Parts: sequence; structure tokens; C-alpha cells
Amino acid sequence: MKMKKYIVTDIRQALEQIRKDLGEDAIILSTRSFRKGGFFGIGGKKFLEVTAVVDEKEEKKKEDLEVYKLQELLVKSKEKRYEEELTEIKQMLKEMKTMVLSIKREDLSEDLKALSKAFEIQDIDSEISNKILEYIRLSYGNLKVDETILEKLTDYFQPFLKTEIPILQGVVMFVGPTGVGKTTTLAKIAARLKLVEKKNVAILTLDTYRIAAAEQLKIYANIMDIPMRVAYTPMEAKIELEAMRSFDVVLIDTAGRSPNNEIQISELKALAETISPNICFLVLAMNYKYSDIKDMVKRFSVAKFSHVILTKMDETKSYGHLLNVPYTTGVPLAYVTNGQRVPEDIIEANRIELSHLLAKEVLRSVRSS
Ligand code: GDP
Repeated sequence: MKMKKYIVTDIRQALEQIRKDLGEDAIILSTRSFRKGGFFGIGGKKFLEVTAVVDEKEEKKKEDLEVYKLQELLVKSKEKRYEEELTEIKQMLKEMKTMVLSIKREDLSEDLKALSKAFEIQDIDSEISNKILEYIRLSYGNLKVDETILEKLTDYFQPFLKTEIPILQGVVMFVGPTGVGKTTTLAKIAARLKLVEKKNVAILTLDTYRIAAAEQLKIYANIMDIPMRVAYTPMEAKIELEAMRSFDVVLIDTAGRSPNNEIQISELKALAETISPNICFLVLAMNYKYSDIKDMVKRFSVAKFSHVILTKMDETKSYGHLLNVPYTTGVPLAYVTNGQRVPEDIIEANRIELSHLLAKEVLRSVRSS
């Protein structure tokens, strides 16, 4: 308890003093008025004696609160400063990176510049291209770029070209944009499973948006003598799958979804969640623009695809997507298709062979540019 007496002429003056000295929580204990000067109590000036007290514990609590608030403010401002610094550092690093890259470009020998241009023609991701060029520059300095480096290039591409041929068992789903070649590829794989691997195969289609697609698949199924069922909703698909449990593999064709259609994409999400397939292939085409591929990969990620299939290799001479697609999706490449013929035009993705193919195309681009 802290007590203080004030001699004032006006109560407002006392209150001001008290607030200043003892704070807002102080209370007035007593007031007494008296006169000073004058003669026998007559005349003189009138004064007021005010006694005020404050509970120091309360005061302490308040002080603590103030300190706490201050600390909090300090931490917040530090965090803010830290965030600002981090953004600044990130920006600096980005600028440094582009500086280094531009220095690198200038540092490249004429041969490596030609190689860099060929990587561009082949549509190889600039990050992959820079990593490989930097590696060559540091290892060899001035490397002569001609047919003799075919094997070296093949080796450099391999770490980026992740491949895996999954064992097809249980539910296998195909997703991807319209017209990419899902149905055709499914038919090719169905034929391999049935004729080569002698598996008990069935097909389930949800591609009911296009009547022609289901009919086309029905023709393939009939030729191969593979049972085919149609489902219209994820729930129906689940029920059909229950009925198809005795098959070794059920291949599921999904509607040719446009990656820009949000409703269809959410339907795909529901389907993937309802039937949770063992394997999900994202089917993309080799003749797509890389920016479109990146966009589709993002949108189809709702299906949680486990492997990629690249179609229409026969329609392009730029093979960069062989590296780009496993690199951006983070999942391995399983098959590559190279024509419309069912079942012939499909190959299992082989890391060495495809790297070799790409290396050959890169050197062809070097020669022709
Ligand atoms: P979906 O809409 O994804 O099911 O695509 P489709 O299987 O119906 O195929 C669309 C078109 O692409 C058809 O004309 C196919 O013959 C064609 N196609 C599929 N795969 C290939 C391929 O590897 N090369 C070429 N050139 N055409 C293909």
C-alpha cells in the first residue's frame, strides 16, 4: 500500500497529481479543508488536504502487463523485421542466381553455347539444362560437341529420367486431358496384360461424356475378348469394382477431362478417393507445350497419380519432355506411346534407351542449327 498526502487549493488539481504519482488505480482515502493565513480562522486562503492510496500489487500487475505488452510488441517487430530480411535475402539470392546464370552463359565456349541452344530446341527444362551445362563446364572446360559425346550426354540425362514399370495388379486408373490418348493407351496395355502376361483383365469405363469413346473401347474389348462395364458415378464404379474382384487387373478409363473445368476435376477427385486405385497413370502427350504440361500436372494432382505415360512421341522431334515430365511431377515415367496402332505402338520406359534417344536428337539439333 502506498499512501500520499496532497495540499491543494482545488480538488481537480489534487486528482491530476494523484493520477500522475499513483496511477489510475489510486483511491482517495480522505479530504480535509483548512485555511492558512488570516486571523483566528477568519480570512486566509482555503486549502484542501487530500490523502490518496494505491495498492502496489495492482500497480505491479499493471506494470507487468505493460512490460509484457512491450515485449510482445518487440517480438512482433522483430518477427516482422526477420520476415522482411528473409524476403530481402531471397530476392538477393534470386538476383545472384540470375547473375551467375548470365555469367555462365557468357563463360560458355562456342561449342557449349551450341549445346545450350540444342537443349532449348529440344525443350529441355532450363533448370536441367543449366545443371548439365555447368557440370560439363566444370568437368571439361572446353568440350568439343560432336558425335563423340553421345554416350556422355546419355549419362548426363539419366539421373533426370526416372522410370519405373509398375506391376499391374488390382485397380489401375488412367487420367488426363481430352484427346491425349488415354483410351488408346489403355487398350494397348490391356492387350499386353491379356496376351503377353496372360492376366485375367477387365475394363471399367467412366468416360461417359463422349459416347464414341465408350464405343471405341467396347470394340477393342470385344476384339480382345475382355469384359467391359460402364459406370456413371464414383459410387457406381465402386459397386462395379466389388463385382469385378475376381479379376487380376481392372483398367479404369476416366472421362477426357478438360484441365480447365473445375467441376470435372472435382469429380475426378471424388472418383480417386472413392475407388483409391493401386496405380494411377497420368497420361500426357509429348507434343504439348511445357507450360501446358506444368499446368495439367498441377490440376490433375487431385487424382494422386503414381506414374506418367507420355503419348504421341511419333508426332514430335522435341524429346525434352522425357526429362521434364518426371522432373516436374516427381513420379516415374512408365510407358511411351509412338503411334495409333493397338496394341503395337507402346514401349516400356527404359531410362538408358530414352536418354540415348534424347542425346541423339540433341546432337541432331546441334548439327542443324
Ligand atoms: P482420350 O480422349 O485421351 O481417351 O484419347 P484417345 O485414346 O481417344 O485418342 C485420341 C487420338 O489420339 C486418337 O485419334 C488416337 O488414335 C490418337 N493417339 C493415341 N495415342 C497416340 C500416339 O501414340 N500417337 C499418335 N500419333 N496418335 C495417338
